[in-house]
Amino acid sequence: MRAALLTETGPIGTAPLRVVELPDPAPGFGEMTMEVTACGVCRTDLQIVEGDIAPRVLPVVPGHQAVGRVTAVGDGVQGWSIGDRAGAGWLASTCGACRFCTGGRENLCETARFTGWDRHGGYADRITVAAGFAYPLPVAAGDFDLAPLLCGGIIGYRALNVSGIEPGGRLGLFGFGASALLSIQVALHWECEVYVVTRSEAEQARAMEMGATWAGSSADAVPVRLDAAVTTAPVGSVVVAALASLGRGGIVAVNAIHLDGIPAFDYDLLWQERQLRSVANFTRSDAKAFLDLAAEIPVRTVVDAYPLEEANGALAAVRDGSVRGAAVVTMG
Ligand SMILES: [Zn+2]
Ligand SMILES: [Zn+2]
Repeated sequence: MRAALLTETGPIGTAPLRVVELPDPAPGFGEMTMEVTACGVCRTDLQIVEGDIAPRVLPVVPGHQAVGRVTAVGDGVQGWSIGDRAGAGWLASTCGACRFCTGGRENLCETARFTGWDRHGGYADRITVAAGFAYPLPVAAGDFDLAPLLCGGIIGYRALNVSGIEPGGRLGLFGFGASALLSIQVALHWECEVYVVTRSEAEQARAMEMGATWAGSSADAVPVRLDAAVTTAPVGSVVVAALASLGRGGIVAVNAIHLDGIPAFDYDLLWQERQLRSVANFTRSDAKAFLDLAAEIPVRTVVDAYPLEEANGALAAVRDGSVRGAAVVTMG
């Protein structure tokens, strides 16, 4: 099979991914193999390829938003058959026994493994996944449209929940990339007022078209005190700006796996029971809840498709912010 393989990390401009032939994978016990049609491109992939997040194995095939059809099912797998459409996400496996796994917080399992980081991901013709960590996908949507839901969508949904936003509340979205484009649709479905802070004028215009109450470039200009905020911009200062825009008791959910330093700030910004929380990974129940909700709303995606051979270009576009919606690597 063809796969975009990372052997050594480096700046994306040096094209660290190389498309190579690898042996077709075979499923082990409890695993299944999928033929991948599309794999969403996430900022985390870029950070692994460039080394901001150290790869846990090398060489590795990145990609953790894979959509495809089951081609082989290993022993011990129940509920999946050859030909089924399935999605594979970031969470590749958990121990199933620790206090986090048994307490509804498997996203925090200390021995969790992750797709495209601990094991080969979806920038390839085929991927092998633990069957218990694959998701059935809503029938109505196409493969390309579903791929970006599998990370940006699910983690964006978890971030909304971590932020404590309630129906009708005032939500700030700081950064308006692939994940925020999906979470705004959920927030509007919950009849929230959404305030979007992004430096990009194109993103501000898109936010207003989608139904935001307000969009602008500066957190100082947000016209109300927010009940909750989600930050996706990969910049530490944005976290402080979001905190400063909250009313009493508000929560900032930081949706980032890697962030540059957060500048020092006055305790006054945290006083009155404001909270700063990170969002780490997601649970399988987050995934199922979001995929059901996405089908019900229904969530719309805008996709920029890149053939596998242009995976480096897709990641460069994510870094440059030149993707219109979500970038997707396609295997056709
Ligand atoms: Zn991701
Ligand atoms: Zn565990």
